[in-house]
Amino acid sequence: MTNEMEKLQLALAMAGKECPTCEGTRVVRVCDGGGDWQIWNCEVCHGTGKVPLLELVREKCPRCGGYGFLTEMGGDDILCSSCQGRGWIPSTDPWKWFEAVHKILDATEVAHLSWAIWEGEQIFYTALAKALGVRE
Ligand SMILES: [Zn+2]
Ligand SMILES: [Zn+2]
Repeated sequence: MTNEMEKLQLALAMAGKECPTCEGTRVVRVCDGGGDWQIWNCEVCHGTGKVPLLELVREKCPRCGGYGFLTEMGGDDILCSSCQGRGWIPSTDPWKWFEAVHKILDATEVAHLSWAIWEGEQIFYTALAKALGVRE
């Protein structure tokens, strides 16, 4: 696997879309029962206004078990070098990526990607990034 492809996969897995619950506003209005409206942080996106575009392609980091940190012999926590503290790593299975995107792309783009997947992984991920408008 080339380094460039890893960068592409990471950029794709990091890509976000507007949170459907708060519509990107980061907050939701909740009726408190007494007829008053309260502004709460959106729980779906944790107040960021964005959710992952491709949730399926994030796999729990096998090195730190999703924690993001590793405990050293002396008891100190160090940042996990496999996932850089994210707790997840991008899936290395191209078919998983294909499955994750085939629902959000139109038929022409899906057909193009299913050809690209046979041509090579680098070609596939490049085509995927282009179809989704993601840049590394
Ligand atoms: Zn939200
Ligand atoms: Zn990790």
